[in-house]
Amino acid sequence: MNKKSFNCVRVSSSALQHNYTLVKNLAGPDVPVMAMVKADAYGHGMVRAAQAFAQAGCVVFGVAELREAVILREAGIKGAIYVTLGFLSEDVELIFRYNLIPVIYTYETTRLLADTAMALGQEVGVHIKIDSGMSRLGLLPGELPAFLACIESLPGIRVAGMMSHFPEADISGSASTVRGFQIFSEVCRDLKSRFGGICHIANSGAVLNFPASFCDIVRSGIALYGYHPAGRNAGDQQNAVNLVPAMSFVTTIVQVKTLPAGTGISYGHTYRAEQPITLAVLPVGYEDGFSRLFSNRGQVLIHGRRVPVRGRVCMNMCMVDVTGIEDVRAGDEVVLMGRQGNESISAEDLAEWMTSISYEVLCLLGNNNQREYIE
Ligand SMILES: *Cc1c(COP(=O)(O)O)cnc(C)c1O
Repeated sequence: MNKKSFNCVRVSSSALQHNYTLVKNLAGPDVPVMAMVKADAYGHGMVRAAQAFAQAGCVVFGVAELREAVILREAGIKGAIYVTLGFLSEDVELIFRYNLIPVIYTYETTRLLADTAMALGQEVGVHIKIDSGMSRLGLLPGELPAFLACIESLPGIRVAGMMSHFPEADISGSASTVRGFQIFSEVCRDLKSRFGGICHIANSGAVLNFPASFCDIVRSGIALYGYHPAGRNAGDQQNAVNLVPAMSFVTTIVQVKTLPAGTGISYGHTYRAEQPITLAVLPVGYEDGFSRLFSNRGQVLIHGRRVPVRGRVCMNMCMVDVTGIEDVRAGDEVVLMGRQGNESISAEDLAEWMTSISYEVLCLLGNNNQREYIE
């Protein structure tokens, strides 16, 4: 059996490498880029993406959960792997076995790591997560002195660094970025004078907008996949940086039919044809990440032209209006995201139709479809 699906996400490894090189050049020769490959590399396939970045020179990787880090190691990824979100206590030994860098923010995890290090006769270097204004994961700066005192009192565990995260770095000159960096810089100064170690806070937004915040490593996700974190709000800056989207999404028409004026289309008959209408039925729906929010709203490319979705998107089908386009047939290629002829549809177009961001579109499409890698 040929196990291919009608729908295919195409990922360009060379686009990933192009974007990595671009981000690395922005970071400069002395600042490594941590390639954020969590969420299956934002839908691009974690192992393949990490391999592409490694080939382009990347030696630092970031994931959310421990299991992702283990998969990377087992696939042969070398270099530093940061586990930024944490791990279940029952898995703590894997940190040591796979030589991973844990990010910590609770006393329980700290003690568990120290106890395990002692039991194994090893030492573990940890990075501390600080909340400098994101109001998400991490210790508040005021909690840090007591936390550091605790780590100092424990054998087997060493402070290797500290990290934080920006809530609005995609907006150039944002006050929260300036303020967050000020808070982070202060705690970093203390940390470095007492323990040495490295500090990192910059995400893609900061890489593009805020060079002063690069510190010792920058952590980039969305820019590596070819999108500006501010989306359309980035305006001219978006074009200036020359990022290349690495993912496209294609399908095939399965049926073409012409229906008389007045015909209702799809569940709920939310679209009714005013004139005779020619529809192409596509084997793609919300289970493939093609959101139901695209009902009567989204567009796709057929024969190099943008055509609209008519009626509701179903679980694994939807209909598009190809009235007046010559020779449209079952088997013709449809581009749901990407380029066809002179037209293109970006993750930002899809994001706009579902009032979301490119990040979510890439995860939805990439993680719900078969992927194919091209050069
Ligand atoms: C995902 C992630 C990033 C990358 O953010 P982008 O906006 O995609 O560059 C950086 N740091 C942490 C901790 C993350 O989880």
